[in-house]
Amino acid sequence: MTIKAALFDMDGTIVDSQIDWLGLREEIAIPWDGRPILAQLAEVNEATRARGLAALHRVEAHGAETGELIDGAMELFGLLRESDVPCALVTNNSRDSAQKVLTRHGLRFDVVLTRDDGAVKPAPDLFLEALRRLDVEAHEALVVGDAHLDLIGAEAAGIPNTILIGTPDWMRVHIPPDMEYTSVETLREAMGHIRELLA
Ligand SMILES: [Mg+2]
Repeated sequence: MTIKAALFDMDGTIVDSQIDWLGLREEIAIPWDGRPILAQLAEVNEATRARGLAALHRVEAHGAETGELIDGAMELFGLLRESDVPCALVTNNSRDSAQKVLTRHGLRFDVVLTRDDGAVKPAPDLFLEALRRLDVEAHEALVVGDAHLDLIGAEAAGIPNTILIGTPDWMRVHIPPDMEYTSVETLREAMGHIRELLA
C-alpha cells in the first residue's frame, strides 16, 4: 500500500514530555478508567474540576517547556518529507503547548490540530479534519501514536494503519481485543516499518 499522509500524536510519540497521567489522576483523586482526563473532569464537581484543570495545565506546560524530542524524530520527518508524504500533528494537548513544542524543536507540520480545534481522541474528529485538510482518504493515511486513544480514534476515523510506540500495559488493556495495529518499542523501530510502507 502507499501512504499518502502521516498523522502524528505529540506527547509520548515525538516528544518525551514526561507527563505522568496516572500520577495526575492520583493527585486529583479520580480513577484511571481509560478515558481522556478532560472527559473525566467534565463529570466531577466544580472544585475538583478546577483543581484538575489547573494540574493538567501545569503538567502540560512543563512538558512543553522541558520535553525532549524523541530519538529519531527529525530523521523520520526528513524521510517523510523526502518521500513527499505530508504530516499532521494531532494532539489532545492545547494549541499553546503544541505551538511551544513546535517552536522549541523547530518542527513544521502541514496541519496542526489540537483540542482547541475539536473533540479530543478517541473521537475521530481531529483525524477526520486532518484528512480533509490534507485531502487524503482514510485508507491512505498512517497514524503514529503511543496511546490506546490514538488507535481507537484512528479506527473511528476509518484509518486502518496505526503504529503504537511503547504503549504501557495500563493503556493497552483499554484496546479492544480485535483491533489491529503495529506495536513497536521505539520511534526508530516505527521508522523501520514506515520505510517499508514507503518502499
Ligand atoms: Mg501520546
